[in-house]
Amino acid sequence: MPLVVICPKCKHQQKTNPKKIISAVKTCVYCGHRFKIHSNIKKSRIVRRVLIKS
Ligand SMILES: [Zn+2]
Repeated sequence: MPLVVICPKCKHQQKTNPKKIISAVKTCVYCGHRFKIHSNIKKSRIVRRVLIKS
């Protein structure tokens, strides 16, 4: 499932599609900050589902 994550450091949004959300670590493409991606969206402020409506 593609996700939109928000870098906690620079606040940029970017897409990611990890094979395993649990234990996934994303490296921000803007500032290089590495942060964990949480599987529980309610607990995480940095993960959002990708909503594509055209
Ligand atoms: Zn960043």
